[in-house]
Amino acid sequence: MLAQGTCTAWEEFLAFVHKKCSTVEFQNWFAQVEVIGEEESRIVLRVPNIFVQEYLLGNYAKELALFLPVDEKGRPNIEFCIKSEAENVSLFTSPLEEAPVQEETFSPQLNHNYTFENFIEGASNQFVKSAAMGVAMRPGKSYNPLFIHGGVGLGKTHLLHSIGHHIKASNRKLKLQCITTEEFINDLVEHLRSKKVDAMKKFYRTLDVLLIDDIQFLQNRLNFEDEFCMTFEALINAGKQIVITSDKPPSQLKLSERLVARMEWGLVANIGIPDLETRVAILQYKAEKKGLKIPSNVAFFIAEHVFNNVRQLEGAINRLIAYTGVTDGTVTQNVVETILSEMFQYIPQKKITIESILKSVSSLFGIRVQDLQKSSRKKEIAFPRQVAMYLAKELIGDSLVKIASSFGGKTHSTLLHSWKKIKKQLESDEMLRRQIHMTRKNLET
Ligand code: ADP
Ligand code: MG
Repeated sequence: MLAQGTCTAWEEFLAFVHKKCSTVEFQNWFAQVEVIGEEESRIVLRVPNIFVQEYLLGNYAKELALFLPVDEKGRPNIEFCIKSEAENVSLFTSPLEEAPVQEETFSPQLNHNYTFENFIEGASNQFVKSAAMGVAMRPGKSYNPLFIHGGVGLGKTHLLHSIGHHIKASNRKLKLQCITTEEFINDLVEHLRSKKVDAMKKFYRTLDVLLIDDIQFLQNRLNFEDEFCMTFEALINAGKQIVITSDKPPSQLKLSERLVARMEWGLVANIGIPDLETRVAILQYKAEKKGLKIPSNVAFFIAEHVFNNVRQLEGAINRLIAYTGVTDGTVTQNVVETILSEMFQYIPQKKITIESILKSVSSLFGIRVQDLQKSSRKKEIAFPRQVAMYLAKELIGDSLVKIASSFGGKTHSTLLHSWKKIKKQLESDEMLRRQIHMTRKNLET
């Protein structure tokens, strides 16, 4: 049963954070939060707006988990109610108790934002998006199964739900289930416990479309893997569409050979990290939707520093909105630097030395470092030496005289001559261009 009003766990948490943060921070982010319900495994908090929710989870997840109920993964199990919504909730009907139990189990839970229209295309996801659209337009008739894999926050769930929306909208008769692997396992456990597993099997075998998210969670769950594999085979054999997402390709999953082989039957498509231009497009699209204007130079600046995944880009936008309080204002580079600096990722630049250049070039051409420092005129030595000189002039800030002297006492005019020669040759020699590009990359990262 839900307890109203006071909550000791929350009060203890407040006492704890009060000591850790400034009074302003406390007033802004904690003081207005109210506990509107609590039970052993969950707590319901009323927050004035979404930003407070994001702030708490983004900055205090660990501390919250110490004091409040946690889920099976050890994350704080909090249900948030935004004030305006929460005010409509009668104090006597708890949001926890209202959860539709039966319906949740068997109806597709699709995030309404995750549609093809809201998915920004770029080189890293074009292929997988068109495969997803192919499946959505002709379920069971194009690629089956479609297996989408890629790192966290790159849009796998977004595409999976997009397929769901499209199919639901264009073919209402098709029976569709979209479920995470964890939910599938929980469902199965629940049905085993209540001895209704046959009903569940029946339900799954009569689906037209099964969309299953994060299959990596099936690893090391032997009994469930068998059940999933049977469901999978039954559906595929009946020509029903399956789409699976995963953080790894099938071959790298610790699952039975049989299931891996099944998952490779159809099309395996990778979703990669979006390139700079796509990140900028995503940023601007998402910011605009939330009423935040980001000028293009600032968007580039953010996208250059936040590059691991799309979720982080969304986090950057939320932070900008929350901290500046501007939902329709303009964001300048200064604001961005102050507010996002902790999110920014800097690639440490290695200090490039003559020694590291000599080493890289000698290994590229299969000669010894000492050879580059002698005055041999043999072509197989002279050419690599010129390449090393070219790279040294390009990448090292020292004076030309000093750089030249590191090549067995050459003069700076020899250095310049070599640099010009290689520069010219690069214009027409694709092979050399690639070799130099690779060597530079190795040196720089
Ligand atoms: P994954 O399942 O791969 O971890 P999600 O599908 O949950 O990632 O995506 C994380 C967030 O990034 C979501 O809010 C999603 O809408 C957004 N997102 C990812 N890729 C794109 C994209 N290409 N265009 C627009 N939004 C994207
Ligand atoms: Mg996901």
